[in-house]
Amino acid sequence: MENYSRSLSRLTGESTLLYQEIARNVERTKGIKTINFGIGQPDLPTPKRIREEAKSALDKGFTAYTPALGLDELRSRVAEFLSQRYGDNIVKDEVAITPGAKTALFLAFLTYVNPGDEVILFDPSFYSYAEVVNLLGGKPVYVPIRFDSDRGFYVDVNDVVSRISSKTKMIVYNNPHNPTGMNFDPKLSEELVKISRERNIILLSDEIYDYFVYEGRFKSVLEEEWRNNVIYVNGFSKTFSMTGWRLGYIVARKEVIGKIGILASNIYTCPTSFAQKGALASFDAFDEVKEMIDLFRRRRDVMFSELSKVKDIKVYKSSGAFYMFPDFSSILRNTGLDSKGLAIKLIEDSGVITIPGEVFPERVGTNFLRLSFALGEEKIKEGVERMKIALEKLA
Ligand code: PLP
Repeated sequence: MENYSRSLSRLTGESTLLYQEIARNVERTKGIKTINFGIGQPDLPTPKRIREEAKSALDKGFTAYTPALGLDELRSRVAEFLSQRYGDNIVKDEVAITPGAKTALFLAFLTYVNPGDEVILFDPSFYSYAEVVNLLGGKPVYVPIRFDSDRGFYVDVNDVVSRISSKTKMIVYNNPHNPTGMNFDPKLSEELVKISRERNIILLSDEIYDYFVYEGRFKSVLEEEWRNNVIYVNGFSKTFSMTGWRLGYIVARKEVIGKIGILASNIYTCPTSFAQKGALASFDAFDEVKEMIDLFRRRRDVMFSELSKVKDIKVYKSSGAFYMFPDFSSILRNTGLDSKGLAIKLIEDSGVITIPGEVFPERVGTNFLRLSFALGEEKIKEGVERMKIALEKLA
């Protein structure tokens, strides 16, 4: 028997990637062309000026290690950009560049979570938070995201407060939110910063979808008094269609960034050198970002109107990110399937890939499937139509 670590045994291995794997099998064995609503990345190419900058860096031989926390010029540019956007005076020493936002999150958990510490997570939330907390011996404590047909998905701050105990080390906040597609009420950002500061709890805020906002005002925690206890995570993956480049960043006070630097130098040495040079050009690529967001807004509208025609599902028009999170409870009840079973059945019967709510990872998600609208309008229409036919057959 293999003698793996106890930490590893605490991982479920659940991830959104599993359903892509099932789909590949269906394509191979049944010859069905799949439509991928499971995807968590924009389908557009990285803007040209970013690619050109990285290519030029490569050609100039910019291929050696960089500092562990990333290139000074990129850290400064991120600090300057966020300061302008949020009216703060963030400095280079408060920024760390990381290989993707996921690594940034991992480092943030590693910096703070001890075995036995409680970490408050929204239910549902991005699957990786709970996995890493468990890996480190921490304990996820869930706050259910509530639903109201007028307000959509929302978090009642009293639910957060009632879950705080003497063991609470961290609250994880993700806005706009994966998987519900909510751009939460600005008050939530304000209240979470306030509560965590007053209770001396770390607030880890993942704002990776901050440009994908279709309704309402987006409120960053960096607009609040954040320095005391906030760790902010963002990245280039979604905004600039750079998922494979692996570049994200952390903002925290200088001492915390120092600790991140120690971890970074031991784990990955530095983020990729020429990718960082490319990222420097991203700050001139906001015209492309705006075009992408306009496109995504149209796609969201198409997906919402198509899903609204499907019998027995309840769908709320998302206000952020690029996900729709419809409620399939009536279909689940009638068929006796759970959300995982339904997602697999849909792949097998219609070639449509969705992500079951259970992956996100607790109870609230069990009635839902997550559908991404990061794909062309024709595909969105065809995919929902195929899904509708498959669901009718199941009924
Ligand atoms: N945070 C959330 C909420 C996400 O949905 C994702 C990716 O799907 C990430 C972080 C990871 O981003 P990155 O590709 O930069 O690691």
